[in-house]
This record gives sequence, structure tokens and C-alpha cells, in this order.
Amino acid sequence: MVKILNYINGALAGPSQGQYMDNFNPAEGKVYSLVPDSGIEDVANAVTAAMEAFPSWSVLPVEKRSRMLQRLADLVDRDLDKLALAESIDTGKPVLLARRMDIPRAAANIRFFATAMLHFSSEAHITDSAAINYTTRTPVGVAGCISPWNLPLYLFTWKIAPALAAGCTVVAKPSELTPMTAFLFSELCIEAGLPQGVLNIVHGAGAKAGQAIIEHPDISAISFTGGTATGKKVALTAAPMFKKLSLEMGGKNPNIIFADCDFEKAMSTSIQSSFTNQGEICLCGSRILVEKSLFEPFVEEFVKRAKALKIGDPVDEETALGAVISAAHMNKILSYIELAKQEKGKILTGGKRITLSGRCKGGYFVEPAVIVGLDHQCRTNQEEIFGPVVTIMPFETEEEAIHLANSTAYGLSATIWTENLKCAHRVASKVKSGIVWVNCWLFRDLRTPFGGMKQSGIGREGGWEALKFFTEAKNVCVKL
Ligand code: NAD
Repeated sequence: MVKILNYINGALAGPSQGQYMDNFNPAEGKVYSLVPDSGIEDVANAVTAAMEAFPSWSVLPVEKRSRMLQRLADLVDRDLDKLALAESIDTGKPVLLARRMDIPRAAANIRFFATAMLHFSSEAHITDSAAINYTTRTPVGVAGCISPWNLPLYLFTWKIAPALAAGCTVVAKPSELTPMTAFLFSELCIEAGLPQGVLNIVHGAGAKAGQAIIEHPDISAISFTGGTATGKKVALTAAPMFKKLSLEMGGKNPNIIFADCDFEKAMSTSIQSSFTNQGEICLCGSRILVEKSLFEPFVEEFVKRAKALKIGDPVDEETALGAVISAAHMNKILSYIELAKQEKGKILTGGKRITLSGRCKGGYFVEPAVIVGLDHQCRTNQEEIFGPVVTIMPFETEEEAIHLANSTAYGLSATIWTENLKCAHRVASKVKSGIVWVNCWLFRDLRTPFGGMKQSGIGREGGWEALKFFTEAKNVCVKL
């Protein structure tokens, strides 16, 4: 059985206490590797290594940092098939999705920030003819990067790449549920010749290794992606220590469909935005709001297409939906189906565990569920389920659509479908979410600000926002 190792000070090593946790293959429901159960000591060693590496990494000419990171991106590209298969086995997601989305995006993240840094300039402000102000942006020091299980290497690199490009050194912790591709990535860092201590990867449980990263006094910035409840705990520890904090958290995203939309595009994309990655993407539209005159035909066709999605072995190229991440998560999803029934919702399709045959017979597979008849204020419509479950609700007016869209504590993303661009702009301006897609979904330009409002997040990632986060601005005013 593969024993995953920490990557500290340029070398692979087991946890100092020798303790490991089981890592499951969700499609089989079986343990297939062991992940370090690291603790305070391992985090302390990683921070020491990162602090020792900081003085030389932070002043390395930016072209050299950029070349080193681009070499890493090339190695990720080279290992596309190996990493995609590893990601599929670790998460239960279809291998095709990992090969088309997760791994190419991981390489793109690294390449994007490696080259963006070459163009990251400081500002100067001429104050009348009396003074010149110039602003320097220097790396914050050691950054702590904590990432979730749903898009493991994709979100891991989305954090570490801007930090490293900006000149920070990093202590990172991938999710304990999906440690494999970060482990394989640490082998690539060694192959690429990344100087020791620049990136340190500590595997372990959130409450133990994760908490130790947040608490460490020599880590000056924390970039966290995960659930809102965890984000709250992170903030409780980090805020009184005055650490820089970026929190990317949960969502309950509205997908607003007006009657004048391009029906086929809205329909096929809504199927994707509901069920891609088993609905385990923070940007999935889990509340579909449909203008009343289109409600019935939309629901009928949507249910037909949801039923047609092939659920199967994630390594089978034909599979559209694989397994959900864990038995606990599957039970959480199924409990929300029961809750929806209690709340008088009508389950039009799905919502049951599926038992496959062969090697996947013990896997955590859930049929995509479509629910109607629920009030927008019920728990099913308010709480993040993070699985293949959507509700569909009718609306009569633009104002009502906006009201329903904004009626949760979250504000991550929203999607609007209409051929009336004036309406799209009006609604986009009133929806309280950090990201709005009009007539598309998950169409990403890495230069744009990424993040949520309300309980979905604090701060923005992407483009200059990320490079600004990992640097500290200092203004120097020179009187003329
Ligand atoms: P989670 O909050 O359980 O865990 C996220 C990470 O935090 C893991 O690495 C975990 O080990 C760590 N962690 C847990 N407790 C910790 C603590 N006390 N201190 C420090 N670290 C700790 O989230 P998850 O279940 O892995 O991921 C699913 C959630 O992530 C969903 O809510 C989803 O919406 C959200 N998410 C958000 C975005 C976004 O960009 N906004 C992207 C992906 C996922």
C-alpha cells in the first residue's frame, strides 16, 4: 500500500510521530493508501525550512523564479495521464474530467502566475508638483495554504503558485481526503530542482496539522479554501494574530433562467453546472430559478437529461458522474434528500445511493437528484449540500428572481440565462455574488478577481488580486 510522505525542506519524509491515516478510494469504498497524520512538530519543521529559504527565494530575480515555476508546469503537463488517473482514484471523479479540467488547469495556474509576476509592477503617484509617492510590494514571508478535496491539485496550485511567484515561501496542506496528487507534485518539485524549503507540503487532519499552520506565529498570511464553518474557525484563530487572511468558502449558487433564453444552451449548460464533478464544485448552481412560463418544459427536459447521465466507474471514459468523496459525505447528501421530503419537496428523479457491480460495488455513488415544490427559505434551499442535488423554483418577475437569488447567507457565484442583455446587466448588478456568468458557466479568465461575498468569502484570488495578497504594500513619499 502506498505511504504518502510529507515534503519538508526539499525531502520526502514520514510524519515525526509515525502516525498515518487511511486514504480511501471512493469508487471502491476501500483504503488504498496511507496519509501522514502530521502534527505540530511537522508543521514547525516545515515553517523553519520555509523561513530559512525565504531570504534567498524572495530576492531571486523574478525571471529565475518564473523559469523554475514554468519548469514545474511543464512537468505537470508531461505527467498529465498519471496525475489525472491519480486524481480520479483519489476523489472518485471521472478520469476524463481530471484529464480535461483538473490537471490542465493545475499546469495553467502555475504557468499563469509564473508569467504574471513578470508583469507585476509597483505604482507611482505624483502629488501635484510637491511629492512623488512610490509603492513597493514585497513578499509577505511564509504563507500558509490550505486546500479542499473537490478539485485537489487544481486548487492546491491556485494557491501555492501566486505565493511562490510573489517570492513567498510556503507551508501547504492539501485535504487529508485527497492527498495523492500533492504528493506526486512534491516529487515533481524535487525533479524540477525547486530549492529546499521553498515549498513544504504537510499532510494531515484539518483540526491537527491544519490548525497548527493557522496558529504558527511565523506564518504571516493564510490562504484557505474550504467550508464556511471551517473558515470561521480559521478566522477565529488567525484574526487576533493579525495575519493576512483570504477565505474562499461555500456557496448555494442561483442559476437564473429567463423565458427568452437560448433553451438548448441554457439546458445543456445547466446540466453541467448542476452535476459536473458529482455537484462537488463550489461554483455549481444548486438552486435553479426558472421564469414561470418556461418552468414546466424546462423541468421536464432537465429531468430527462439528468436521468440519462451515466453514473459509473470513474476510470471508464464513458462515465459522466463518478463517486462522491466519502461515506460520510454520501450520507450527508442522502440526509438532505430526506430533509427535502420532510420539507414537502417532490423528488422528481434520483437521490438514492446506487450500487454498481464489480470493483465499484462498495463505492459511494449517488443518483443525480432534481427536487421541486420547496419554499426558498427551507433548509434544503439555504444550506450547502455539495453533491448531485438541485432544486428548481419558478419566478414571475425579474425582481422576484433577484430576491430569490439573494435569499441565502452565501454569495459565491450566479448564472443568468437571457437573450436580453439589458436584463442580464440589470440582474448581474443586483445579484450579491462575487462571480456572475451570463449565458455560460465556469468560463474562466485567470486574470479576473475570484471569490465570494457574504458567507462565501473574504478577499479575492486570481490575477493581480492574488499577487497583491501575497505581498505587502509600502508607500514611500518623497517631498520634492
Ligand atoms: P473543509 O472546510 O472541511 O476542509 C478544507 C481544508 O481545511 C482541508 O484541507 C481541511 O483539512 C482543512 N481544515 C479543516 N479544519 C481545519 C482547521 N481547524 N484549521 C485549519 N485547516 C482546517 O472543506 P472540504 O470539505 O475539504 O471542502 C468542501 C468545501 O469547500 C465546500 O464548502 C465548498 O463549497 C468549499 N469550496 C470553496 C471553494 C471556493 O473557491 N470558494 C472552492 C472549492 C471548495
